[in-house]
Amino acid sequence: MAEKITLKDGVLVVPEEPIIPFIEGDGTGVDIWPAARSVLDAAAAKRGRKIAWIEVLAGQKAFDETGNWLPEETVDSFREHLIGIKGPLTTPIGGGMRSLNVALRQILDLYVCLRPIRWFEGVPSPVKHPEKVDMVIFRENTEDIYAGLEVEAFTPEAKVLIELLHEQMGWTIRPDSGVGIKPISETGSKRLVRAALEYAVRNGRKSVTLVHKGNIQKYTEGAFRNWGYELTRDEFSDVAVGWDDCGGEPGDKVLVKDAIADITLQQVLTRPDEFDVIATTNLNGDYLSDALAAQVGGIGIAPGGNINYVTGHGIFEATHGTAPKYAGQDKVNPGSVLLSGVMMFEHLGWQDSADDIARALEATISDKIVTYDFARLMDGATEVRCSEFAQAIVDRL
Ligand code: NAP
Repeated sequence: MAEKITLKDGVLVVPEEPIIPFIEGDGTGVDIWPAARSVLDAAAAKRGRKIAWIEVLAGQKAFDETGNWLPEETVDSFREHLIGIKGPLTTPIGGGMRSLNVALRQILDLYVCLRPIRWFEGVPSPVKHPEKVDMVIFRENTEDIYAGLEVEAFTPEAKVLIELLHEQMGWTIRPDSGVGIKPISETGSKRLVRAALEYAVRNGRKSVTLVHKGNIQKYTEGAFRNWGYELTRDEFSDVAVGWDDCGGEPGDKVLVKDAIADITLQQVLTRPDEFDVIATTNLNGDYLSDALAAQVGGIGIAPGGNINYVTGHGIFEATHGTAPKYAGQDKVNPGSVLLSGVMMFEHLGWQDSADDIARALEATISDKIVTYDFARLMDGATEVRCSEFAQAIVDRL
């Protein structure tokens, strides 16, 4: 019987047939969602499970049917069912409409953007040792310059702010400036690092690296780093230890260390095996997750999840856009939304089903059966359609 997922004492209670809302997505959503869903259903069935999917609307499809880009019922459904999955959504340009993805994150306070970055054997990569890349990024999802606190140059708001900052703080800002505000709070930083540390402990990971730009932005990025170490000492001392508190010798505890964002972007390329779980602020996390995704196959295959570990809400999503030029052609790679489903299975505690899909995906790519994006980078590949790629994965489950 189809039932809702619930939260009890901070832990998800997942029934045998959970109800899971999905947004098909705009553009190539019509191609990749049905393909990914067929694999998710087959993998669940293999282990005697079933998902009761319910479609909810957002984006172009919602606008066409209801006149609203993000109907209230959609948000209510995610709120009620806790866990959901979505394809890419068109962000209407102009008209003051903010990104629907950002709106969903803010409404449900999904404070972690989770991006696992690992290589699947056979996936074409621009680096020599993509197998060394196995990281999980916890990107803060609600603060930083993404808070939307910006004023445009030459507006009355900019003038007021610039004058206020001059009068109250003695700061001189060129009068023809746009100005943005970057809030980083103790609350936001600690709940993010807490989620990363709990994940590292639960999954037997070796280290958590706090990535920041604290050498320049001391009271925002630097504070994020300091709060991360403070949290480690205050709440995790039995299972984790900061670098300075152990001289880099953590024993069997999780090592918490930190790295400046710019050098991190070099080192994830030159010494990827030194990074494991990464906890970072919003903008750093944005750059880092795309740079890392490029090492292991790029945009067609990079999954993501937006999670609030306290309320239990999570929305898993394809991280690429709607690729409108390919929409409806049954052509693009369904890997991103499929692997988002794999993350969702892991999050639900269906690790065996998640592992089944990862293995079958790897076997398919090893057999050189791939969509156009990989085919053009591989020798001797068989290029297949989006739906055929999904079927090939199902055949190997
Ligand atoms: P995009 O849709 O991500 O597409 C850029 C390029 O990425 C495509 O031309 C294609 O490369 C490659 N690509 C995208 N999806 C792929 C897939 N499934 N398989 C293989 N390759 C794939 O970015 P965009 O064209 O800049 O944005 C289009 C729309 O998407 C915009 O409205 C934007 O706002 C929206 N968007 C939504 C999200 C989201 O919902 N999460 C994220 C980003 C953008 P090639 O041309 O090389 O084949």
